[in-house]
Amino acid sequence: MVTEASPSIKLRAKIKPLQNCSAGAYSSRLKVMNNRTGENWCQDHLTNEKLWQLLAKIDSDFAEEARGKGCLHPDCGGRLHRSDYERKPRGGPGWDLRNSFCCDQEGCRRRETPMSVRFLGRRVYAGLVVVLVSAMVHGLKPERVQRIREVLAIDRRTLERWRQWWRSTFVRSSFWKWARARFMPLVCEKTLPLSLGRRFEIERPERLLDLLKFLAPVTRPAAGKLQGI
Ligand SMILES: [Zn+2]
Repeated sequence: MVTEASPSIKLRAKIKPLQNCSAGAYSSRLKVMNNRTGENWCQDHLTNEKLWQLLAKIDSDFAEEARGKGCLHPDCGGRLHRSDYERKPRGGPGWDLRNSFCCDQEGCRRRETPMSVRFLGRRVYAGLVVVLVSAMVHGLKPERVQRIREVLAIDRRTLERWRQWWRSTFVRSSFWKWARARFMPLVCEKTLPLSLGRRFEIERPERLLDLLKFLAPVTRPAAGKLQGI
């Protein structure tokens, strides 16, 4: 059976020649320039297998935490049983299930889907891809964005929808109204999510994880008003 390489593997294959020709002063300069524009670290994150593994680990922790709390329906107190559902985000390393639970009480059966750093609501792409590629739009030259978009098979309209989502739906959300007050000076809303990424210093993988954890409350399907990408 022929299996297609994941987009992140394809991306790594494409950027490899760039890394291999790194000898010499010229390429060092190129590296500095790329780092300044955010080109390198964005691509590094997208192809960082350890980072993807950590995302799965964080989601497991979120799931355990949710299970520990039990059913959140008032006056129920039922226990939660595992009820994962199929979800295959594009751009990820082949994930196929989203952690989810169901209440065990007859008459309630409420579904509880924990926060996630892998899935951003119902978006068909992995949350990491949505955040990073949306950020790149503000930091990279259009031709570089286009190449990454092509490698990850993100069409122009999808990227435009993401941009709109950050600039309208996200900034109007109750989460952001609460969260933005935590930043001083205020985060520029026109260049989200790059502006937020800069505050978190997401050039470092561990800080990118912090940003995804910070955004995790908007990833629950229950945050219904935040759907629409
Ligand atoms: Zn219940």
